[in-house]
Amino acid sequence: MRTRFAPSPTGHLHLGHVVNAIYVWGLARAGGGRVLLRMEDHDRIRCRPEYESSILEDLEWLGFAPDEGLHPLLRQSDRGAVYQEALEQLRAAHHVYACDCSRRHIMGERYVGFCRDRHLAADFGRGLRIQIDEGLETFDDLFLGTIEHEPARQCGDLLLRDRDGNWTYQFAVTVDDVLQQITDVIRGEDLASSTGRQLRLRRMLGNTDRPRFAHHPLILKPGGEKLSKSDADVGVRELRQAGLSPADVIGRAAAAVGLVEHVEPLAVQDLGRLFVAKDAPRVGRIHRASSR
Ligand SMILES: [Zn+2]
Repeated sequence: MRTRFAPSPTGHLHLGHVVNAIYVWGLARAGGGRVLLRMEDHDRIRCRPEYESSILEDLEWLGFAPDEGLHPLLRQSDRGAVYQEALEQLRAAHHVYACDCSRRHIMGERYVGFCRDRHLAADFGRGLRIQIDEGLETFDDLFLGTIEHEPARQCGDLLLRDRDGNWTYQFAVTVDDVLQQITDVIRGEDLASSTGRQLRLRRMLGNTDRPRFAHHPLILKPGGEKLSKSDADVGVRELRQAGLSPADVIGRAAAAVGLVEHVEPLAVQDLGRLFVAKDAPRVGRIHRASSR
């Protein structure tokens, strides 16, 4: 078993990331697996080095130690040649085309294939898309059960590289998960909708194997929206400054998604116990962490 923790350095670490880390390290430790750290800094405009260092520092403070990917740091921004090669591979077997549509022009998530037959040159300022044909993608999610997606109807032709020359999340993450031999993708429920298109892209890249998926609950604000980096009251930095210990922060995150009943300190080394068996996740009995 090999999974990954893949933050984007577009902000500081907050409780939402801590929840993801709890599931990633907890399921990995319960299943005897390894955790790979991957900096998803494919978007060169939004990512900043200071966020990267603060994420690494907070992770270390919390005690989440990756088994791989830290020395040297594994960054998507260093893998341009790898993505370029995957792009050429897709080009050889599928219809990849340049697209000059703006976000505003597309209006919404689904791209109807406006540029599919325009034969535009792949010049600077144009994105690159791949034609996605009809058909279902089905997968069994550890937490959500069986899910069916229809990528052609959900998102249409996928963007591989955007108009600013950035590789897209969907493309980079699919290539990385294949090449880094990830067997278990453990991430928040908000990313479940990406799975069908990633499975399709994976197959278009010539891979018949597929990882297992576990999309876990998110911490929601009272209004039901997901947490964001602008919610300062849940930032790991702020909680540290307020005097909380790593176990306090992890305990708070675990309680916020109902992994434990009450807010109490929880140390990284006890997380495996939350997931007694990887195939039958349930809330285990948590012993009070002794590492305060
Ligand atoms: Zn277009």
